[in-house]
Amino acid sequence: MPIYEYKCLACNNQFEKIVKLNETPNCPSCDSAELEKQFSMAGVSTSRTRKNSFNKARSKAGEIKKEKDHAQAVYESNYIKDHS
Ligand SMILES: [Zn+2]
Repeated sequence: MPIYEYKCLACNNQFEKIVKLNETPNCPSCDSAELEKQFSMAGVSTSRTRKNSFNKARSKAGEIKKEKDHAQAVYESNYIKDHS
């Protein structure tokens, strides 16, 4: 559900509200419906982008670990070969 940021034109109160489709909120401080929408979806898409890059970074770290494990396995098998 999108979070919208509103500014009340009656009392200048700014607030964020989760708004269902086609629902118009009222100002929580003066109950006016004269609201100006400040932006939409920006906060949601920002956190989604952050989560994506976090997941990417984490999977990259996993790949590096896999390579290291592989290198370790190769090293160990060569070591065993050389010393047996
Ligand atoms: Zn207000």
